[in-house]
Amino acid sequence: MPGTLFIVAAPSGAGKTTLVSGLLAQDSGVKLSVSYTTRAPRAGEVHGQHYHFVDVATFKAMAGRGEFLEWAEVHGNYYGTSRPWLEAQMNSGTDILLEIDWQGAQQVRKVFPDAVGVFILPPSIDELERRLRGRGTDSEEVIARRVLAAQGEMRHVGEFDYVIINQNLPVALDELVSVVRASRLRYARQKARSPEFFQLLEQD
Ligand code: ADP
Ligand code: 5GP
Repeated sequence: MPGTLFIVAAPSGAGKTTLVSGLLAQDSGVKLSVSYTTRAPRAGEVHGQHYHFVDVATFKAMAGRGEFLEWAEVHGNYYGTSRPWLEAQMNSGTDILLEIDWQGAQQVRKVFPDAVGVFILPPSIDELERRLRGRGTDSEEVIARRVLAAQGEMRHVGEFDYVIINQNLPVALDELVSVVRASRLRYARQKARSPEFFQLLEQD
């Protein structure tokens, strides 16, 4: 497949949404996969743009029909990636970015072993908690649950190809843009994009 698949994971509050929207603004070659979720929309979230918000019955019916490339339960809600949308985009050569958790990343790697995994870390657990509180979208109970879950999620950092520590936002964004640009230049990706050219170069 000519498209490159990027998986970006991070504990909630590390700055994944901020960094990914910065990347999309700088690089029009990457499209974000809009996941399905049973979680309630946060203030300002738009159906079809941030997530497809569905109820549990709809989500389970979709999962039963095999419509998710991967799905997982995260913080008590279901999240899943649309399989038909992703396959159509990848076949047409578009680079796709998945913002999913480590469980989803493990499932996607089985189907797309060439996927490029990026894990975003906060500079410290204390700073993660400060950012969650500063975001002002979650209750104290949800924040406490997310900080605890973060420590479990960060144990999976070693399953990813690249690690970005989001201390200084412009620096971290520059690092994410660099990973995306460098990944596109990998031999296998270039060859998949121009198979005839490489065949010509490499024939005996
Ligand atoms: P995530 O999508 O990983 O849950 P967000 O992108 O929503 O995280 O970021 C959580 C909060 O931290 C937001 O209020 C965001 O503005 C802030 N933030 C993100 N990156 C930084 C940074 N490098 N320094 C300080 N605050 C940040
Ligand atoms: P949030 O509720 O903060 O938007 O997301 C919570 C967690 O769910 C994050 O770690 C996010 O990456 C993950 N997530 C979002 N969409 C998906 C998805 O489609 N699949 C999986 N496995 N995780 C997802």
